[in-house]
Amino acid sequence: MKQILKAPKSVLETNDFGVTISETGVQIKVWAPCAIRARVAIYNEGDDLFRNEIPMESIGDGIFNLNLPLSYKNKYYTYIITSAETDYEVVDPYAVAAGPNSEKAMIIDLEDTNPTGWHSHDQPHAVKAHEALVYELHVRDFSSDPNSGMYNKGKYLAFTEKNTSFNGLKTGIDHLKELGITHVHLLPVYDFSSIDELDASAYNWGYDPELFNVPEGSYSTNPLEGHVRIQELKLCIMALHEAGIRVVLDMVYNHTYASSHSNFNRLAPGYFYRHTSDGSFSNGSGCGNELATERSLVRKFIIDSLLFWLKEYKVDGFRFDLMALYDVETVQEISRVLHENKPDILLYGEPWIGWESVLPETRRFVKTKQAGLKIALFNDDFRNAIKGDNDGHESGFVMGLTSTLQWVQLGIAASTELSGGRKGFAEKAEEVVNYVSAHDNLVLWDKIDKVCPSDTIEDKIRMHRLALAIVLTSFGVAFIQSGTEFLRSKKGHENSYNAGDEINKIDWISKSKHFNHFTYIKNLITFRRFSGFFKWNAYQEIKNNVSFLDTPEGIIGYEILNDNEDRCIVLHNGTRHRKPVQLPEGKFYLVANEVKVDLNSSKMFSTFGERPVHIEGFTTMILTDLDLKSIDAFLN
Ligand code: CA
Repeated sequence: MKQILKAPKSVLETNDFGVTISETGVQIKVWAPCAIRARVAIYNEGDDLFRNEIPMESIGDGIFNLNLPLSYKNKYYTYIITSAETDYEVVDPYAVAAGPNSEKAMIIDLEDTNPTGWHSHDQPHAVKAHEALVYELHVRDFSSDPNSGMYNKGKYLAFTEKNTSFNGLKTGIDHLKELGITHVHLLPVYDFSSIDELDASAYNWGYDPELFNVPEGSYSTNPLEGHVRIQELKLCIMALHEAGIRVVLDMVYNHTYASSHSNFNRLAPGYFYRHTSDGSFSNGSGCGNELATERSLVRKFIIDSLLFWLKEYKVDGFRFDLMALYDVETVQEISRVLHENKPDILLYGEPWIGWESVLPETRRFVKTKQAGLKIALFNDDFRNAIKGDNDGHESGFVMGLTSTLQWVQLGIAASTELSGGRKGFAEKAEEVVNYVSAHDNLVLWDKIDKVCPSDTIEDKIRMHRLALAIVLTSFGVAFIQSGTEFLRSKKGHENSYNAGDEINKIDWISKSKHFNHFTYIKNLITFRRFSGFFKWNAYQEIKNNVSFLDTPEGIIGYEILNDNEDRCIVLHNGTRHRKPVQLPEGKFYLVANEVKVDLNSSKMFSTFGERPVHIEGFTTMILTDLDLKSIDAFLN
């Protein structure tokens, strides 16, 4: 096995790798511990073939430095690293700007990229993590549909377009506002490698990082000019903020697109990655390699990168891919530093790995390690109990499999603990992400369609709505995949990462086709956000304010109290049959039944005496004695 390099103290204490621009000039600094010498290659354009090479000065411990006059601003650069074997041209992994296809970094003053009003724009007020309502969205999918009504199809700028519609119904950012979500989670917008930025039809989700601190160029209107993508991403974020929506970025620090030829590995061979005992790259990501997060400089790179996005782009949260590939200490440090800089930041991730890893299991950031860190984990147990496995024929609660009922109940209680001893992995609602589908695997509609091919469309729609209604009436971060509010389908595609617009686009025609479903979800979101019933976070609070009811087989029922001791009764019927349920005594408004969520309900529903309510098959029923006018007040 190769000896692993160590980063000396001087390197760990360096905070200005990459380009630094001051009033007096430009400084470029790199750590290349195996280099005999290093040069900076200067290019006038991002796609230039001609270069001018300038030697860097070795300043000890493998660090090379170059000072240039300010006239070099807005030029492009790479490093030419000479080792014992050969010369390599390397793109600066610390770059904050780049030309097309990550081929050259750019010397840039980020202040020049700020749109008008950037520093003073209105940022949404804080939302508690467990009250967040996250909408997972791919930049290109949002607007690529010919019927999207947006002009900048597939681009960051589509988010800046107001008053767009199809068939008289809102699309684009107006739709997001109408739906009432608190956060948009953008699939990767850091620079990724899998597509040619100059090919307008190229499509990928982007889970193949190249330059971690540069925005992806294919979503900009001009990938050739390094300023443009930065300014346009800032315009996208500013538009979302001004619509009252917070922005979460999907970050993939667990691996890089390239392995032995990657920028990191050319600069410091072996240091940035984990290796197996035979010296090959450990592949816990399933994508060819995994970053060695436990090494000091890797940990520092990740934390500095997160802080950079937080400060420079004013984002509101991060989603972490394959978090079990991170060592626990690194995640603890990430949580500490990010909360110190933004107390209301929203952090969550996947508590699993992709493939086999050399990282010992005890060091992996898996379920239970999140305790006390204000980081939420995707709750796959809950997801599977609701809808079965990801892509197979396994059924779930919403399709009539009532044997998973107790797991659904546990998920509703944020996977904390149920009376009777059933215990989950979390201690607080802020530690779980409740969801039934995300970009990976079958979208919810296609999953239901696969498991229940002979059910009627009406029944399948009920199952779909029931699944989302369970998420929206549970404790924890509520997470919905874009388009599922109007029954998104990917025509059965299980892994559409490169399947193009036709499969992946948000199909805006569906909003008018399934407007009832959309309205149901929208109103349920409003009820969740403003009724005060879903504010409970700690296990003890949930225990004190939520009680599960005695219900017939296949039905989950629970009563929630809010701060004012208003009562809310939620019923979920996982069977296909209409069933009677005897409710606790009281007088309630009927908020949700099989047809709609009615926030103006004035019909009192009395449950005095022996008379039960009847709940239709595969539906949710919600009753409350809360004065619904108080919700109206929030909306006006
Ligand atoms: Ca790219």
